[in-house]
Amino acid sequence: MKKSSAAPLQELVRILSADQVLTSPADLLTYDADGLTQHRAIPRAVVLPHSTDQVARVVRWCHERGVPFVPRGAGTGLSGGALPCESGIILELARMNRLLEVNVDERFAQVQVGLINQELSEAVREHGLFYAPDPSSQSACTIGGNIAENSGGPHCMKYGMTTQHILGATIVLPEGTVTHFGGPHSGLPGLDLLGLFVGSEGTFGVVTEALVALQKIPACTRLLFVAFRELVNACRAVGKMVARGMEPAALEMIDQTTIQVIEQSVFACGLPEDAGGVLLVELDGLPTQVDADSELVREISSELGAFEIREADDAAQRLQLWKGRKAAFGALGRLKPDLYVQDAVVPRSKLPEILNTMMQIARKHDVLLSNVFHAGDGNLHPNISFDGRDAHEARRVAEAGKEIMQACLDVGGALSGEHGIGREKRDFMPMLFSARDLEVFADVRRVFNPQGLCNPDKVLPGTKVCQEFRQGIEIPGVTTP
Ligand SMILES: Cc1cc2nc3c(=O)[nH]c(=O)nc-3n(C[C@H](O)[C@H](O)[C@H](O)COP(=O)(O)OP(=O)(O)OC[C@H]3O[C@@H](n4cnc5c(N)ncnc54)[C@H](O)[C@@H]3O)c2cc1C
Repeated sequence: MKKSSAAPLQELVRILSADQVLTSPADLLTYDADGLTQHRAIPRAVVLPHSTDQVARVVRWCHERGVPFVPRGAGTGLSGGALPCESGIILELARMNRLLEVNVDERFAQVQVGLINQELSEAVREHGLFYAPDPSSQSACTIGGNIAENSGGPHCMKYGMTTQHILGATIVLPEGTVTHFGGPHSGLPGLDLLGLFVGSEGTFGVVTEALVALQKIPACTRLLFVAFRELVNACRAVGKMVARGMEPAALEMIDQTTIQVIEQSVFACGLPEDAGGVLLVELDGLPTQVDADSELVREISSELGAFEIREADDAAQRLQLWKGRKAAFGALGRLKPDLYVQDAVVPRSKLPEILNTMMQIARKHDVLLSNVFHAGDGNLHPNISFDGRDAHEARRVAEAGKEIMQACLDVGGALSGEHGIGREKRDFMPMLFSARDLEVFADVRRVFNPQGLCNPDKVLPGTKVCQEFRQGIEIPGVTTP
Protein backbone atom coordinates (compact mmCIF):
# COMPACT_ATOMS: atom_id res chain seq x y z
CA MET A 1 0.00 0.00 0.00
CA LYS A 2 1.26 3.48 -0.91
CA LYS A 3 2.26 5.43 2.19
CA SER A 4 0.33 8.71 2.57
CA SER A 5 2.43 11.88 2.36
CA ALA A 6 -0.23 13.82 4.20
CA ALA A 7 0.72 15.59 7.43
CA PRO A 8 -0.66 13.65 10.44
CA LEU A 9 -3.18 15.64 12.43
CA GLN A 10 -1.85 14.10 15.64
CA GLU A 11 1.24 16.28 15.31
CA LEU A 12 -0.95 19.37 15.38
CA VAL A 13 -2.84 18.10 18.41
CA ARG A 14 0.48 17.59 20.19
CA ILE A 15 1.51 21.20 19.47
CA LEU A 16 -1.72 22.50 21.02
CA SER A 17 -4.24 20.31 22.82
CA ALA A 18 -7.16 18.21 21.61
CA ASP A 19 -9.75 20.88 22.45
CA GLN A 20 -7.85 23.45 20.36
CA VAL A 21 -8.13 21.44 17.16
CA LEU A 22 -11.54 21.06 15.52
CA THR A 23 -12.14 18.43 12.87
CA SER A 24 -15.75 17.30 13.18
CA PRO A 25 -17.87 18.01 10.09
CA ALA A 26 -20.34 20.04 12.18
CA ASP A 27 -17.55 22.24 13.58
CA LEU A 28 -15.87 22.71 10.21
CA LEU A 29 -19.12 23.65 8.49
CA THR A 30 -19.32 26.84 10.55
CA TYR A 31 -16.04 27.98 8.98
CA ASP A 32 -16.98 27.37 5.34
CA ALA A 33 -17.36 31.08 4.50
CA ASP A 34 -16.99 34.58 5.88
CA GLY A 35 -19.61 37.29 5.32
CA LEU A 36 -19.35 36.72 1.56
CA THR A 37 -21.37 33.54 1.29
CA GLN A 38 -21.13 33.13 -2.49
CA HIS A 39 -17.80 31.35 -1.96
CA ARG A 40 -17.62 28.31 0.34
CA ALA A 41 -15.01 25.65 1.18
CA ILE A 42 -14.55 23.27 4.11
CA PRO A 43 -11.08 23.29 5.74
CA ARG A 44 -9.39 20.08 6.95
CA ALA A 45 -9.14 21.42 10.48
CA VAL A 46 -9.55 24.57 12.56
CA VAL A 47 -6.99 25.41 15.23
CA LEU A 48 -7.61 27.79 18.12
CA PRO A 49 -4.27 29.01 19.55
CA HIS A 50 -4.02 30.93 22.83
CA SER A 51 -0.62 32.62 22.45
CA THR A 52 1.90 33.97 19.96
CA ASP A 53 4.09 30.99 20.77
CA GLN A 54 1.33 28.53 19.84
CA VAL A 55 0.62 30.41 16.61
CA ALA A 56 4.33 30.29 15.75
CA ARG A 57 4.51 26.53 16.40
CA VAL A 58 1.43 25.83 14.27
CA VAL A 59 2.71 28.03 11.44
CA ARG A 60 6.15 26.38 11.58
CA TRP A 61 4.44 22.99 11.33
CA CYS A 62 2.45 24.18 8.29
CA HIS A 63 5.67 25.48 6.72
CA GLU A 64 7.54 22.20 7.31
CA ARG A 65 4.61 20.06 6.16
CA GLY A 66 3.56 22.22 3.19
CA VAL A 67 0.08 22.76 4.62
CA PRO A 68 -1.74 25.98 3.61
CA PHE A 69 -3.26 28.05 6.43
CA VAL A 70 -5.77 30.86 6.56
CA PRO A 71 -5.75 33.32 9.48
CA ARG A 72 -9.20 34.22 10.72
CA GLY A 73 -10.64 36.61 13.28
CA ALA A 74 -14.42 36.71 13.62
CA GLY A 75 -15.19 35.84 9.98
CA THR A 76 -17.16 39.05 9.36
CA GLY A 77 -15.06 39.88 6.28
CA LEU A 78 -17.07 40.67 3.16
CA SER A 79 -14.56 39.81 0.45
CA GLY A 80 -13.92 36.12 1.13
CA GLY A 81 -10.55 36.83 2.79
CA ALA A 82 -11.04 34.12 5.43
CA LEU A 83 -12.40 31.58 2.93
CA PRO A 84 -10.66 28.27 3.82
CA CYS A 85 -8.33 26.26 1.64
CA GLU A 86 -9.78 22.76 1.33
CA SER A 87 -6.41 21.08 1.89
CA GLY A 88 -5.43 23.34 4.77
CA ILE A 89 -6.31 24.71 8.16
CA ILE A 90 -8.04 27.75 9.56
CA LEU A 91 -5.98 29.50 12.22
CA GLU A 92 -8.57 31.26 14.31
CA LEU A 93 -7.26 34.04 16.56
CA ALA A 94 -10.55 34.80 18.31
CA ARG A 95 -9.45 33.15 21.59
CA MET A 96 -6.48 35.50 21.83
CA ASN A 97 -8.69 38.33 23.01
CA ARG A 98 -6.98 39.93 26.00
CA LEU A 99 -6.40 43.62 26.56
CA LEU A 100 -2.81 43.45 27.79
CA GLU A 101 -2.03 47.05 28.75
CA VAL A 102 -3.54 50.52 28.66
CA ASN A 103 -1.05 53.38 28.79
CA VAL A 104 -3.19 56.42 29.53
CA ASP A 105 -0.31 58.91 29.52
CA GLU A 106 1.05 57.79 26.16
CA ARG A 107 -2.46 57.02 24.87
CA PHE A 108 -1.94 53.54 23.53
CA ALA A 109 -3.05 50.01 24.33
CA GLN A 110 -1.39 46.65 23.80
CA VAL A 111 -3.89 43.98 22.75
CA GLN A 112 -4.07 40.41 21.60
CA VAL A 113 -5.63 40.67 18.16
CA GLY A 114 -8.67 38.49 18.83
CA LEU A 115 -10.03 41.35 20.94
CA ILE A 116 -13.33 42.59 19.55
CA ASN A 117 -13.11 46.14 18.23
CA GLN A 118 -15.96 47.56 20.31
CA GLU A 119 -14.70 45.95 23.51
CA LEU A 120 -11.50 47.95 23.22
CA SER A 121 -13.35 51.29 23.17
CA GLU A 122 -15.60 50.14 26.00
CA ALA A 123 -12.60 49.12 28.09
CA VAL A 124 -10.77 52.45 27.77
CA ARG A 125 -13.83 54.72 28.08
CA GLU A 126 -13.25 55.10 31.85
CA HIS A 127 -9.99 56.86 30.96
CA GLY A 128 -11.78 59.30 28.62
CA LEU A 129 -10.30 57.50 25.60
CA PHE A 130 -11.58 55.56 22.60
CA TYR A 131 -10.27 53.55 19.64
CA ALA A 132 -11.34 55.46 16.53
CA PRO A 133 -11.75 52.94 13.65
CA ASP A 134 -15.32 51.71 14.06
CA PRO A 135 -16.46 49.31 11.32
CA SER A 136 -20.21 48.79 11.38
CA SER A 137 -19.38 45.22 12.40
CA GLN A 138 -17.48 46.48 15.44
CA SER A 139 -19.55 44.48 17.92
CA ALA A 140 -18.12 41.29 16.38
CA CYS A 141 -14.99 41.92 14.28
CA THR A 142 -11.49 41.61 15.74
CA ILE A 143 -8.57 44.00 15.80
CA GLY A 144 -6.58 41.38 13.81
CA GLY A 145 -9.16 41.30 11.03
CA ASN A 146 -9.21 45.13 11.06
CA ILE A 147 -5.43 45.23 10.66
CA ALA A 148 -5.47 42.68 7.85
CA GLU A 149 -8.18 44.57 5.95
CA ASN A 150 -7.10 48.12 6.93
CA SER A 151 -10.70 48.53 7.94
CA GLY A 152 -12.63 51.74 7.96
CA GLY A 153 -15.90 52.80 9.54
CA PRO A 154 -18.14 55.85 9.84
CA HIS A 155 -15.68 57.79 12.01
CA CYS A 156 -12.70 57.09 9.74
CA MET A 157 -13.70 60.11 7.68
CA LYS A 158 -12.17 62.38 10.32
CA TYR A 159 -9.92 60.02 12.25
CA GLY A 160 -8.39 57.93 9.45
CA MET A 161 -8.38 54.23 8.62
CA THR A 162 -6.93 51.44 10.77
CA THR A 163 -3.42 51.95 9.42
CA GLN A 164 -3.33 55.37 11.07
CA HIS A 165 -4.05 53.84 14.48
CA ILE A 166 -1.67 50.88 14.57
CA LEU A 167 1.64 51.80 16.15
CA GLY A 168 3.21 48.36 16.31
CA ALA A 169 2.51 44.67 15.81
CA THR A 170 3.81 41.24 16.71
CA ILE A 171 3.76 39.08 13.62
CA VAL A 172 4.32 35.41 12.97
CA LEU A 173 5.89 35.22 9.52
CA PRO A 174 4.77 32.38 7.23
CA GLU A 175 7.79 30.19 8.06
CA GLY A 176 6.97 30.43 11.77
CA THR A 177 9.38 33.06 13.12
CA VAL A 178 8.15 35.85 15.35
CA THR A 179 8.94 39.46 14.53
CA HIS A 180 7.88 42.92 15.70
CA PHE A 181 7.13 45.88 13.45
CA GLY A 182 6.78 49.49 14.64
CA GLY A 183 6.62 50.61 18.27
CA PRO A 184 5.07 53.21 20.54
CA HIS A 185 7.12 56.07 19.12
CA SER A 186 6.50 57.39 15.64
CA GLY A 187 9.18 58.15 13.07
CA LEU A 188 11.22 54.96 13.53
CA PRO A 189 14.06 54.68 11.02
CA GLY A 190 14.04 51.97 8.36
CA LEU A 191 11.38 50.76 5.96
CA ASP A 192 7.76 51.09 7.07
CA LEU A 193 7.10 47.35 7.16
CA LEU A 194 4.18 47.88 9.52
CA GLY A 195 2.54 50.12 6.91
CA LEU A 196 3.11 47.40 4.33
CA PHE A 197 1.64 44.71 6.58
CA VAL A 198 -1.58 46.58 7.44
CA GLY A 199 -4.02 45.84 4.64
CA SER A 200 -2.14 42.77 3.36
CA GLU A 201 -5.30 40.71 3.94
CA GLY A 202 -3.72 37.87 5.85
CA THR A 203 -1.28 37.03 3.06
CA PHE A 204 1.95 38.32 4.69
CA GLY A 205 1.72 36.46 8.02
CA VAL A 206 -0.34 36.31 11.17
CA VAL A 207 -0.55 39.29 13.51
CA THR A 208 -0.93 38.15 17.11
CA GLU A 209 -0.56 41.32 19.18
CA ALA A 210 -0.92 45.01 18.35
CA LEU A 211 -0.08 48.35 19.84
CA VAL A 212 -2.99 50.63 19.03
CA ALA A 213 -3.33 54.42 19.37
CA LEU A 214 -6.17 55.76 21.50
CA GLN A 215 -7.96 59.10 21.07
CA LYS A 216 -9.36 61.45 23.66
CA ILE A 217 -13.17 61.48 23.72
CA PRO A 218 -14.12 64.89 22.26
CA ALA A 219 -15.57 67.59 24.51
CA CYS A 220 -18.76 67.79 22.46
CA THR A 221 -20.43 65.36 20.02
CA ARG A 222 -23.62 66.05 18.08
CA LEU A 223 -25.46 63.85 15.59
CA LEU A 224 -27.79 65.39 13.02
CA PHE A 225 -29.98 63.55 10.61
CA VAL A 226 -31.07 65.24 7.44
CA ALA A 227 -33.82 63.86 5.21
CA PHE A 228 -34.09 64.60 1.48
CA ARG A 229 -36.82 63.60 -0.98
CA GLU A 230 -34.18 62.87 -3.63
CA LEU A 231 -31.09 60.76 -2.93
CA VAL A 232 -29.19 62.81 -5.49
CA ASN A 233 -29.64 65.97 -3.38
CA ALA A 234 -28.33 64.17 -0.32
CA CYS A 235 -25.22 63.32 -2.41
CA ARG A 236 -24.86 66.94 -3.49
CA ALA A 237 -25.04 68.04 0.15
CA VAL A 238 -22.11 65.75 0.98
CA GLY A 239 -19.96 67.40 -1.70
CA LYS A 240 -20.94 70.89 -0.54
CA MET A 241 -20.23 70.21 3.14
CA VAL A 242 -16.72 69.05 2.38
CA ALA A 243 -16.13 71.82 -0.16
CA ARG A 244 -17.14 74.41 2.47
CA GLY A 245 -14.30 73.15 4.70
CA MET A 246 -16.29 71.08 7.16
CA GLU A 247 -14.62 68.08 8.73
CA PRO A 248 -17.46 65.99 10.15
CA ALA A 249 -16.55 63.06 12.37
CA ALA A 250 -18.87 60.95 10.20
CA LEU A 251 -21.00 61.55 7.12
CA GLU A 252 -23.16 58.56 6.27
CA MET A 253 -25.85 58.00 3.65
CA ILE A 254 -28.88 55.72 3.88
CA ASP A 255 -31.22 55.29 0.90
CA GLN A 256 -34.96 54.73 1.01
CA THR A 257 -34.99 50.94 0.70
CA THR A 258 -32.52 50.67 3.57
CA ILE A 259 -34.39 53.23 5.70
CA GLN A 260 -37.56 51.20 5.29
CA VAL A 261 -36.01 47.86 6.30
CA ILE A 262 -34.32 49.48 9.31
CA GLU A 263 -37.58 51.07 10.42
CA GLN A 264 -39.44 47.77 10.05
CA SER A 265 -36.82 45.96 12.15
CA VAL A 266 -35.94 45.89 15.84
CA PHE A 267 -33.34 48.57 15.03
CA ALA A 268 -35.99 51.18 14.15
CA CYS A 269 -34.59 54.60 15.09
CA GLY A 270 -37.10 57.14 13.80
CA LEU A 271 -35.82 57.71 10.25
CA PRO A 272 -38.55 59.07 7.91
CA GLU A 273 -39.61 56.21 5.62
CA ASP A 274 -40.72 58.58 2.85
CA ALA A 275 -37.21 60.09 2.47
CA GLY A 276 -35.31 59.27 -0.72
CA GLY A 277 -32.11 59.52 1.32
CA VAL A 278 -31.02 60.42 4.83
CA LEU A 279 -27.64 61.78 5.84
CA LEU A 280 -26.26 61.12 9.30
CA VAL A 281 -23.81 63.90 10.08
CA GLU A 282 -21.81 63.59 13.28
CA LEU A 283 -19.86 66.62 14.47
CA ASP A 284 -17.38 66.63 17.29
CA GLY A 285 -14.80 68.92 18.85
CA LEU A 286 -15.09 72.09 20.91
CA PRO A 287 -18.70 73.22 21.47
CA THR A 288 -18.22 76.48 19.51
CA GLN A 289 -16.93 74.58 16.47
CA VAL A 290 -19.76 72.05 16.69
CA ASP A 291 -22.31 74.90 16.87
CA ALA A 292 -20.81 76.57 13.80
CA ASP A 293 -20.71 73.31 11.84
CA SER A 294 -24.32 72.50 12.80
CA GLU A 295 -25.39 75.83 11.34
CA LEU A 296 -23.52 75.05 8.13
CA VAL A 297 -25.17 71.61 7.85
CA ARG A 298 -28.58 73.25 8.23
CA GLU A 299 -27.78 75.97 5.68
CA ILE A 300 -26.43 73.61 2.99
CA SER A 301 -29.17 71.03 3.52
CA SER A 302 -31.94 73.65 3.34
CA GLU A 303 -30.47 75.05 0.12
CA LEU A 304 -30.73 71.55 -1.36
CA GLY A 305 -34.34 71.09 -0.25
CA ALA A 306 -33.98 68.90 2.86
CA PHE A 307 -37.44 68.43 4.41
CA GLU A 308 -36.32 67.39 7.87
CA ILE A 309 -33.20 68.40 9.81
CA ARG A 310 -33.01 67.13 13.38
CA GLU A 311 -30.46 66.67 16.10
CA ALA A 312 -30.38 63.58 18.28
CA ASP A 313 -31.97 64.70 21.56
CA ASP A 314 -29.53 62.94 23.82
CA ALA A 315 -26.83 60.25 23.99
CA ALA A 316 -29.46 57.48 24.00
CA GLN A 317 -31.05 58.69 20.75
CA ARG A 318 -27.64 59.16 19.17
CA LEU A 319 -26.76 55.58 20.07
CA GLN A 320 -30.09 54.35 18.68
CA LEU A 321 -29.45 56.12 15.37
CA TRP A 322 -25.98 54.62 15.11
CA LYS A 323 -27.37 51.19 15.95
CA GLY A 324 -29.89 51.59 13.15
CA ARG A 325 -27.17 52.60 10.69
CA LYS A 326 -24.78 49.86 11.75
CA ALA A 327 -27.45 47.17 11.65
CA ALA A 328 -28.49 48.10 8.11
CA PHE A 329 -26.87 45.05 6.45
CA GLY A 330 -28.63 42.75 8.90
CA ALA A 331 -31.97 44.52 8.41
CA LEU A 332 -31.65 44.00 4.64
CA GLY A 333 -32.09 40.29 5.41
CA ARG A 334 -35.80 41.10 5.54
CA LEU A 335 -35.86 41.46 1.74
CA LYS A 336 -34.22 38.25 0.52
CA PRO A 337 -32.23 35.41 2.11
CA ASP A 338 -28.84 36.50 0.71
CA LEU A 339 -27.04 39.82 0.54
CA TYR A 340 -24.07 40.75 -1.62
CA VAL A 341 -22.42 43.73 0.08
CA GLN A 342 -20.16 45.45 -2.38
CA ASP A 343 -17.47 47.99 -1.65
CA ALA A 344 -15.90 50.58 -3.95
CA VAL A 345 -14.65 54.15 -3.76
CA VAL A 346 -15.42 56.99 -6.11
CA PRO A 347 -14.50 60.68 -6.01
CA ARG A 348 -17.14 62.39 -3.83
CA SER A 349 -18.13 64.67 -6.70
CA LYS A 350 -19.17 61.59 -8.71
CA LEU A 351 -21.65 60.27 -6.12
CA PRO A 352 -24.81 61.60 -7.85
CA GLU A 353 -23.70 60.23 -11.22
CA ILE A 354 -22.58 56.81 -9.99
CA LEU A 355 -25.74 56.20 -7.94
CA ASN A 356 -27.76 56.85 -11.08
CA THR A 357 -25.58 54.50 -13.14
CA MET A 358 -25.83 51.77 -10.49
CA MET A 359 -29.63 51.95 -10.50
CA GLN A 360 -29.58 51.55 -14.30
CA ILE A 361 -27.32 48.50 -13.98
CA ALA A 362 -29.63 47.01 -11.35
CA ARG A 363 -32.66 47.51 -13.61
CA LYS A 364 -30.84 46.00 -16.59
CA HIS A 365 -30.01 42.83 -14.64
CA ASP A 366 -33.29 42.81 -12.73
CA VAL A 367 -31.67 42.76 -9.27
CA LEU A 368 -32.69 44.44 -6.02
CA LEU A 369 -30.16 47.16 -5.17
CA SER A 370 -29.96 49.37 -2.09
CA ASN A 371 -27.30 51.72 -0.79
CA VAL A 372 -25.96 52.57 2.66
CA PHE A 373 -22.47 53.96 2.76
CA HIS A 374 -19.68 56.15 4.08
CA ALA A 375 -20.60 59.09 1.83
CA GLY A 376 -17.99 61.49 3.21
CA ASP A 377 -15.24 59.18 1.97
CA GLY A 378 -16.95 58.42 -1.35
CA ASN A 379 -16.95 54.82 -0.08
CA LEU A 380 -19.95 53.10 -1.63
CA HIS A 381 -21.68 49.94 -0.46
CA PRO A 382 -24.07 48.89 -3.21
CA ASN A 383 -26.04 46.02 -1.65
CA ILE A 384 -27.75 43.44 -3.80
CA SER A 385 -30.41 41.34 -2.05
CA PHE A 386 -31.01 37.98 -3.69
CA ASP A 387 -31.88 34.33 -3.23
CA GLY A 388 -28.75 32.24 -3.74
CA ARG A 389 -30.85 29.11 -4.31
CA ASP A 390 -31.93 30.60 -7.64
CA ALA A 391 -28.96 30.03 -9.95
CA HIS A 392 -30.26 32.48 -12.57
CA GLU A 393 -30.65 35.22 -10.02
CA ALA A 394 -27.21 34.49 -8.54
CA ARG A 395 -25.69 34.80 -12.01
CA ARG A 396 -27.45 38.12 -12.64
CA VAL A 397 -26.15 39.37 -9.28
CA ALA A 398 -22.57 38.46 -10.22
CA GLU A 399 -22.89 40.19 -13.60
CA ALA A 400 -24.44 43.31 -12.08
CA GLY A 401 -21.73 43.34 -9.39
CA LYS A 402 -18.94 43.28 -11.95
CA GLU A 403 -20.59 46.00 -14.03
CA ILE A 404 -21.00 48.19 -10.96
CA MET A 405 -17.28 47.81 -10.22
CA GLN A 406 -16.40 48.76 -13.79
CA ALA A 407 -18.67 51.81 -13.59
CA CYS A 408 -16.90 52.92 -10.38
CA LEU A 409 -13.52 52.53 -12.06
CA ASP A 410 -14.77 54.45 -15.10
CA VAL A 411 -15.41 57.54 -12.94
CA GLY A 412 -11.93 57.36 -11.42
CA GLY A 413 -12.72 55.08 -8.47
CA ALA A 414 -11.12 51.98 -6.96
CA LEU A 415 -12.16 48.37 -6.35
CA SER A 416 -12.36 48.59 -2.58
CA GLY A 417 -12.53 51.25 0.10
CA GLU A 418 -12.28 49.02 3.14
CA HIS A 419 -13.47 45.42 2.67
CA GLY A 420 -10.41 44.33 0.72
CA ILE A 421 -10.01 42.26 -2.42
CA GLY A 422 -9.93 38.78 -0.88
CA ARG A 423 -11.30 36.03 -3.06
CA GLU A 424 -14.19 38.14 -4.28
CA LYS A 425 -12.31 40.64 -6.42
CA ARG A 426 -9.07 38.77 -7.02
CA ASP A 427 -9.94 38.34 -10.68
CA PHE A 428 -11.03 41.99 -11.01
CA MET A 429 -7.54 43.27 -10.15
CA PRO A 430 -6.47 43.53 -13.84
CA MET A 431 -9.39 45.95 -14.32
CA LEU A 432 -7.45 48.43 -12.16
CA PHE A 433 -3.79 47.40 -12.27
CA SER A 434 -1.40 46.67 -15.12
CA ALA A 435 0.35 43.30 -15.45
CA ARG A 436 3.53 44.98 -14.23
CA ASP A 437 1.79 46.41 -11.14
CA LEU A 438 0.51 42.95 -10.29
CA GLU A 439 3.99 41.44 -10.71
CA VAL A 440 5.38 43.98 -8.26
CA PHE A 441 2.65 43.14 -5.73
CA ALA A 442 3.43 39.43 -6.14
CA ASP A 443 7.17 40.07 -5.69
CA VAL A 444 6.51 41.92 -2.45
CA ARG A 445 4.23 39.14 -1.23
CA ARG A 446 6.91 36.52 -2.01
CA VAL A 447 9.32 38.32 0.33
CA PHE A 448 6.96 37.65 3.23
CA ASN A 449 5.29 34.48 2.01
CA PRO A 450 7.70 32.70 -0.38
CA GLN A 451 5.90 29.33 -0.43
CA GLY A 452 2.49 30.95 -0.77
CA LEU A 453 1.12 28.85 2.11
CA CYS A 454 -0.28 31.83 4.02
CA ASN A 455 -3.81 32.50 2.74
CA PRO A 456 -3.40 31.31 -0.85
CA ASP A 457 -5.84 32.16 -3.62
CA LYS A 458 -6.55 35.64 -2.33
CA VAL A 459 -5.99 39.20 -3.61
CA LEU A 460 -3.61 38.51 -6.52
CA PRO A 461 -4.64 36.60 -9.64
CA GLY A 462 -2.12 34.15 -11.07
CA THR A 463 -0.51 33.21 -7.73
CA LYS A 464 -0.50 29.67 -6.35
CA VAL A 465 -4.07 28.47 -5.66
CA CYS A 466 -5.37 26.04 -3.04
CA GLN A 467 -5.62 23.09 -5.42
CA GLU A 468 -1.85 23.22 -5.92
CA PHE A 469 -1.24 22.35 -2.27
CA ARG A 470 -2.27 18.74 -2.64
CA GLN A 471 -0.51 17.14 0.28
CA GLY A 472 -3.24 17.90 2.81
CA ILE A 473 -3.59 16.59 6.32
CA GLU A 474 -4.12 13.01 7.40
CA ILE A 475 -7.09 12.76 9.71
CA PRO A 476 -8.01 9.30 11.03
CA GLY A 477 -11.07 8.01 9.14
CA VAL A 478 -11.14 10.93 6.67
CA THR A 479 -9.82 10.75 3.09
CA THR A 480 -7.38 13.46 2.02
CA PRO A 481 -8.92 15.52 -0.84
C1 LIG B 1 -22.51 43.89 9.09
C2 LIG B 1 -21.11 44.19 8.64
C3 LIG B 1 -20.68 45.51 8.60
C4 LIG B 1 -19.36 45.80 8.21
N1 LIG B 1 -18.95 47.10 8.21
C5 LIG B 1 -17.68 47.40 7.90
C6 LIG B 1 -17.22 48.75 7.94
O1 LIG B 1 -17.94 49.68 8.28
N2 LIG B 1 -15.93 48.98 7.60
C7 LIG B 1 -15.09 47.97 7.24
O2 LIG B 1 -13.92 48.24 6.94
N3 LIG B 1 -15.50 46.70 7.19
C8 LIG B 1 -16.76 46.37 7.52
N4 LIG B 1 -17.18 45.07 7.47
C9 LIG B 1 -16.25 44.02 7.03
C10 LIG B 1 -15.49 43.30 8.18
O3 LIG B 1 -16.20 43.38 9.38
C11 LIG B 1 -14.08 43.86 8.35
O4 LIG B 1 -13.32 43.57 7.19
C12 LIG B 1 -13.35 43.33 9.58
O5 LIG B 1 -12.12 43.97 9.74
C13 LIG B 1 -13.09 41.83 9.53
O6 LIG B 1 -12.67 41.43 10.82
P1 LIG B 1 -12.77 39.89 11.25
O7 LIG B 1 -12.17 39.77 12.60
O8 LIG B 1 -14.15 39.41 11.13
O9 LIG B 1 -11.83 39.23 10.17
P2 LIG B 1 -12.06 37.93 9.27
O10 LIG B 1 -13.27 38.09 8.45
O11 LIG B 1 -11.96 36.73 10.11
O12 LIG B 1 -10.78 38.03 8.32
C14 LIG B 1 -10.66 39.07 7.41
C15 LIG B 1 -9.28 38.98 6.73
O13 LIG B 1 -8.28 39.22 7.71
C16 LIG B 1 -7.37 38.13 7.79
N5 LIG B 1 -7.04 38.02 9.20
C17 LIG B 1 -7.90 37.92 10.25
N6 LIG B 1 -7.21 37.89 11.39
C18 LIG B 1 -5.89 37.96 11.07
C19 LIG B 1 -4.68 37.95 11.81
N7 LIG B 1 -4.69 37.90 13.14
N8 LIG B 1 -3.51 38.01 11.14
C20 LIG B 1 -3.48 38.10 9.79
N9 LIG B 1 -4.59 38.10 9.04
C21 LIG B 1 -5.79 38.04 9.67
C22 LIG B 1 -8.12 36.95 7.21
O14 LIG B 1 -7.22 36.00 6.65
C23 LIG B 1 -8.96 37.62 6.14
O15 LIG B 1 -8.21 37.80 4.99
C24 LIG B 1 -18.49 44.75 7.84
C25 LIG B 1 -18.94 43.43 7.88
C26 LIG B 1 -20.22 43.14 8.27
C27 LIG B 1 -20.67 41.71 8.31
